[in-house]
Amino acid sequence: MRKFRSVALVAAVSLLGSACGSSEAPEAGQPKMTWEEFRATVVEDPEGKLIFDGDMALDSEEELHAFFASSIGADTGTARGGLAVYNTSSSKAPSGDIKWSATQARSLTYCVSSTFGTNKTAVVNAMNAATAAWKATGANINFTHVTSLDSNCTASQTGVLFDVRPVNSGGQYLARAFFPNSGRSGRNVLVDNSAFGNISPWTLAGIMRHELGHVLGFRHEHTRSTSSGCYEDSNWRALTTTYDRSSVMHYPQCAGTQTGDLVLTSLDQQGVRALYP
Ligand SMILES: [Zn+2]
Repeated sequence: MRKFRSVALVAAVSLLGSACGSSEAPEAGQPKMTWEEFRATVVEDPEGKLIFDGDMALDSEEELHAFFASSIGADTGTARGGLAVYNTSSSKAPSGDIKWSATQARSLTYCVSSTFGTNKTAVVNAMNAATAAWKATGANINFTHVTSLDSNCTASQTGVLFDVRPVNSGGQYLARAFFPNSGRSGRNVLVDNSAFGNISPWTLAGIMRHELGHVLGFRHEHTRSTSSGCYEDSNWRALTTTYDRSSVMHYPQCAGTQTGDLVLTSLDQQGVRALYP
């Protein structure tokens, strides 16, 4: 989740009103972004990861090249379904979904680093609220906080699936996450210091609900919409039939309609149940 998107949320919505537009622009015909244009949007965070699309991380320049070649430099999306799972296959068959196995989905373990210090309780509470929200959808998923590993909660801690750690991103983002195809060292949810300040109307739990959506394999909801002004690429498969401007995965200022905290909509709930039945 990009920092500026929350800090300047109200202003951004009005400022982006004409740029993003509320009218329905044609989905086809979006000019392809060049590698140079895409690379210019990518920043390196303190972990050495390359951050793109606001809060997504890749390990290397090679991976970034591969991502660009397979998605952004490829076709643009035309469909309009809701809640999009990451899918890199050309046919967009469900077998190409980037998701956890049924067994792994029931054992999504994590630690919360003790190095959060006085902020740790806030992170633990936010993760509890966010994991409960995804669990309450009825999807066949289960997150478990392995508290015994909090004191050694690093990117190389193999006792958990992923780690939740503090970061000083230098204002690049509030938090960032990963997709299910990341290797262990990349499976981190990093929370910036700024996320503990005033991020109204969002809460830390709301930010975590969004980030855990990525952890489950979901792309930004606005990724397929050129009219959102925030088109990303075509590497996704829709899980529901309705485009959802209020989705927890939709940046509000990308012509979104969620004006409060980031919460799971009924379509988000329907989508995650479809992916993890
Ligand atoms: Zn995101």
